[in-house]
Amino acid sequence: LVSLEHHKERSTVHVRGVPIGPDTITLIAGPCAVETPEQTLEAARMAQAAGATLLRGGAFKPRTSPYAFQGLGELGLRILSDVRAETGLPVVTEVVAAHDVEMVAQYADMLQIGTRNMQNFALLQAAGEAGKPVLLKRGMNSTIEEWLMAAEYIAQRGNLDIVLCERGIRTFETATRNTLDISAVPVVQRLSHLPVMIDPSHSGGRRDLVLPLSRAAVAVGADGVLVDVHPNPEEALCDGPQALLADDLRVLQQSIEELAEVL
Ligand code: PEP
Repeated sequence: LVSLEHHKERSTVHVRGVPIGPDTITLIAGPCAVETPEQTLEAARMAQAAGATLLRGGAFKPRTSPYAFQGLGELGLRILSDVRAETGLPVVTEVVAAHDVEMVAQYADMLQIGTRNMQNFALLQAAGEAGKPVLLKRGMNSTIEEWLMAAEYIAQRGNLDIVLCERGIRTFETATRNTLDISAVPVVQRLSHLPVMIDPSHSGGRRDLVLPLSRAAVAVGADGVLVDVHPNPEEALCDGPQALLADDLRVLQQSIEELAEVL
């Protein structure tokens, strides 16, 4: 269902009218985690001012340590929904458990499945039945074939509105959190009709790498970029070192736009 062979041409997925696909480069930006109404609104305004057309933000945070901030849960979803009402930005947010899908889908415009859940098949199936587009991150330990098969689980339940997101894989390299597999973009585009984005924030784990990795993504033909922004990264409850500030995001958006024009 997700193969290019059966579909012939590459797809565009619409998230509340915002296209993600071959004719555009979509910028999704927002805080890694929803912390407070003020922080979320401020991050959304930063995203919007820079030209992002979708707001990201985690209310359920699957952290490596159970002692790290786990997200605000449904309260976080309510904050996202208020911020959408205020800014008009559609909301992309992660769901981590099959039994939460229906509830998260009531607030979200796009359901995100994170790297750690890429092969949570019950979750994939539930997301496939929720009636919302799905952003499927690549498992950090998964091959491209496994990633496409995960997408197939969603598609099999009748939902072809799937966007794939390369977010780095585990290698022997320790200079970055994970290694962004930039070749995944053209490889997947030859195998599947689904749009492919990259997440340079979670792959590198470092603010200074977000711009060069975003440019690399656009250069290889990615359909969009998903980045973290925070009004005060030093105080962030989650992944502050990778969060962009307002000026960084503006530079990023200009830079990818200019690059897309010359390509
Ligand atoms: C995220 O985007 O908030 C996230 C946790 O990403 P990943 O699943 O890629 O680590």
